[in-house]
Amino acid sequence: MNSSIQPAGQSADQTFGPLPVGDDIARALHRMGYSQPTPIQEQAIPPLRNGLDVMGQAQTGTGKTAGFGVPIVEMIDLRARRVQAIVLVPTRELCLQVAEELSRLGSFASVRVVAVHGGVGFGRQLDALRQGAQIVVGTPGRVEDLMARGNLRLDGVRFAVLDEADRMLDVGFLPAIERILGRTPSTRQTALFSATIPDEVRRLASRHMHEPVTIAIESKKPTVEAIDQRFEDVRDGDKLKALIAHLDDPSCFLALVFRRTTYKADRLAHDLSKRGYKVAALHGRRTQPQREKVLADLKSAKLHALIATDIAARGLDIGGLTHVFNFDLPDTPETYVHRIGRTGRAGEAGTAITLIGPEDAEGLSTLKKYLARREAGDQRGSGIQEGRGKPRRSSQISDRSRSGSFQPSRPNRNRNRRQRPSQPLQARSA
Ligand code: AMP
Repeated sequence: MNSSIQPAGQSADQTFGPLPVGDDIARALHRMGYSQPTPIQEQAIPPLRNGLDVMGQAQTGTGKTAGFGVPIVEMIDLRARRVQAIVLVPTRELCLQVAEELSRLGSFASVRVVAVHGGVGFGRQLDALRQGAQIVVGTPGRVEDLMARGNLRLDGVRFAVLDEADRMLDVGFLPAIERILGRTPSTRQTALFSATIPDEVRRLASRHMHEPVTIAIESKKPTVEAIDQRFEDVRDGDKLKALIAHLDDPSCFLALVFRRTTYKADRLAHDLSKRGYKVAALHGRRTQPQREKVLADLKSAKLHALIATDIAARGLDIGGLTHVFNFDLPDTPETYVHRIGRTGRAGEAGTAITLIGPEDAEGLSTLKKYLARREAGDQRGSGIQEGRGKPRRSSQISDRSRSGSFQPSRPNRNRNRRQRPSQPLQARSA
């Protein structure tokens, strides 16, 4: 670990809520519209500034990027044209989002941030690295490729971040992460953020972090707070009609529609486009330039709706999303929660509408039970898992029983009833 870090070349004459910040950061925060720190920022920034390692349990949407971004930007030696901080992320989209946020935070200090991810050629990333990157945000595969080619050196790294660590481990990045961290100085400071802290993440932390300060941020639970959830029965074959009726509602300004497969996402996008709706499909078969174009079109409100598969939508933070539609039920109840959590961000209102066809009855029943258990857990104050216990296992949406109307606050009296064993989310065709 580094010893205590002072904001480089900045007088701490401004404030970010209770936190003093230097002039450059204060101006950046002002321009970004951040007047008060979010809870994770308030809790993570002081220990990180003091050179401590931090392990934070927080989801995307809590403001964790600025939580590590502010201290990183502050500690960059602006005169040194070498990589001083590395942020590892699981997906290309998150890579671009994090790099953009760090660039904005570092814009007045002229900190050089480079995003490196797969799915595109090396050319532009190499040019950017050669111009002297100080912070690199990357997916582990591309970071390793660039190191192997001799284009990226990490021996000057003073700060490493593992962002969405649980997802990185889910997709098999553990060996790459270990190798990358092994190429950074052991004196570096390390921050790890993860929505859940399963044993694998804990073990990773114990191998690479030094007595981390642990922070758990209870994210606003999307199923019970800001989001208006509706389950709508539709007759066989009528889902398209139902979706169109919602898209025509003026309150539906920007929508994310989930489908389970690439083929179905494409087909729905085609059906809607044919009827004059401005939509695009996002799935694993899109090239990186296509994905970037779709996301840019979304941000500039050129699109009314994005039709996505679960994997393609991972890590996406689309501001201003008013509606999430589950055209198909997801594989697991946990995925439902992830999906609907895309709307209602940062305290905004959001609507999640799940279209229920005849084929969805049993999946819906399992989902309702899960939501009821989750709600009962919240009421007992156990919304976020802490401690060393194993993470709760997920159940597939495939239960046989049926139930009546949606009542999320029903306490769980069925604890001992047989549950199907957990299954990870199947990465089918995304
Ligand atoms: P993150 O969890 O870092 O992906 O941030 C989630 C969203 O919250 C992003 O759209 C940020 O722009 C926004 N955000 C982060 N910090 C703040 C803040 N202090 N005030 C207002 N918005 C914020």
